[in-house]
Amino acid sequence: KPLVEIENVDMRYGGADGTLAVSGLDMSVAKGEFAAVVGPSGCGKSTLMKLVTGLHIPQTGVVTVAGSYVTKPVSIVGMAFQNPTMLPWRTTLDNILLPLEIVEKHRHRLRRHKAEYVEKAEALLETVGLKGFGSKFPWQLSGGMQQRANLCRALIHEPELLMLDEPFGALDAFTREELWQVIRDLHAAQGVTIVLVTHDLREAAFLADTIHVMSARPGRVVNVHKVPFPRPRE
Ligand code: ADP
Ligand code: ADP
Repeated sequence: KPLVEIENVDMRYGGADGTLAVSGLDMSVAKGEFAAVVGPSGCGKSTLMKLVTGLHIPQTGVVTVAGSYVTKPVSIVGMAFQNPTMLPWRTTLDNILLPLEIVEKHRHRLRRHKAEYVEKAEALLETVGLKGFGSKFPWQLSGGMQQRANLCRALIHEPELLMLDEPFGALDAFTREELWQVIRDLHAAQGVTIVLVTHDLREAAFLADTIHVMSARPGRVVNVHKVPFPRPRE
């Protein structure tokens, strides 16, 4: 049974007469798969991500994650979207700890083992090249740095499913390739399932096991190119 299953989904913004953003969307992602989603701008990639994470509920069709219908934001998911959304009144470290406060089963663990989680957040910051930036506020970080901090936030609660919507967009080429390696290692070591939206075919080919191609709007997945899965990793 796939970890993520989208069946015949239509999603309109602004109610029944609104903009059709995706239409007849079918997609499934196996447990442990690293899926890339590519397609022209406006075809509905971000909408797809928001459907899987429970930020949007479709008018037609079903979305399931780990066998449950998605009807509200899903707790086993970590997400990092294109536009960094850090809370400006919190330090970077406290932003990264946020999912632990939101996911109920982590909340009391966070209270009892705060020092451990702080250590873990600091280790994540180091992995993405932000060692020592935990005490800074979002406005003290560049766009690319905020994006990297967002990635730490997506990972802090060790999600089973990681949803990444162009998470490397604001990064310089050098940092981007470093983060590719971070994500790739994470996938290889922990077997987390990943869905990555990207405009960069080189990125998709380097990272993903499968490439799901969406057609022009209203988007549907028209083609799934499977890189051999599981893919041999050197
Ligand atoms: P992509 O991520 O592939 O660029 P999106 O999922 O953002 O595509 O958008 C799909 C379509 O839905 C586009 O036509 C876009 O303009 C429209 N759309 C996206 N978000 C909204 C919104 N909040 N309200 C109305 N239309 C939207
Ligand atoms: P992305 O490539 O991330 O989809 P967009 O420029 O399409 O970026 O959308 C940025 C934000 O604006 C998203 O939150 C999207 O939901 C919203 N948006 C996109 N198109 C529209 C629209 N036509 N009307 C209202 N909101 C929109």
